Amino acid sequence: MKKLLVPLVVLLVFVSSSSLDEPAYLQNFGRFVILVHDVSPGYLPQLKQITVLIDAYGLQNETYLFVIPNHGGEKPLWEHPEFISFIQNLSARGYHIELHGYDHIGNEFDCSAGVAEERLELGLEAFESCNLSRPHYFIAPRYSLSGDALSVILSRNITVIGGDFVYYPNGTSVPVLNREYTWYLPSPLLDYQLESARTSYRNTRGTFFISIHPKAANNGAGLEFLRRFLEFVRKQETGQGLTGAS
Ligand SMILES: [Zn+2]
Repeated sequence: MKKLLVPLVVLLVFVSSSSLDEPAYLQNFGRFVILVHDVSPGYLPQLKQITVLIDAYGLQNETYLFVIPNHGGEKPLWEHPEFISFIQNLSARGYHIELHGYDHIGNEFDCSAGVAEERLELGLEAFESCNLSRPHYFIAPRYSLSGDALSVILSRNITVIGGDFVYYPNGTSVPVLNREYTWYLPSPLLDYQLESARTSYRNTRGTFFISIHPKAANNGAGLEFLRRFLEFVRKQETGQGLTGAS
């Protein structure tokens, strides 16, 4: 009996540790999610290029745009009507419009509960004044937030997406796979990044999140990566690509 016990314990440890690391499949998100960070008026041309690609692959419903209400303290949404209508138009076509901090200066949400409350309120007011519907999700600038700030945001019934976890208002959190492949991607690394992303996608049974930053993704081979990866995802999920090319 004792002889059997050791392999059993080893097996149990293996099973529990691998299930801890295994990214979750999140029913409300589905298999594939695109997170666009730093959505602000300063990046309008870049965001247009990115959303044209997402539109082409019909992934509007899978795309979450994280808006900075007052980027750098000098680009308030409400002073950029062209940008507001761009966002409203995307929202009407299925894109999700969510909240990415308030001014994105430093680690603005690594702060006290009081300051977090103030900044969150300013962000929600900005959304309201621009006729954007109340956000359901929040990403902290640089994924940096204090425990107090996290509690404040969750208490407002907003789910927080982090680099490795999603935190729900009911107090639970689940591990997720959230990768960024298009940060100033040099052309010679395009094939390598694509292969690494495809392998990771194939090996993940959970929800696969990719993060995109405008400007960083519009440089080098970023958009080409995006086009080819979305083509791959579409083929995986529907058996049918858009272009017939890989
Ligand atoms: Zn950001």
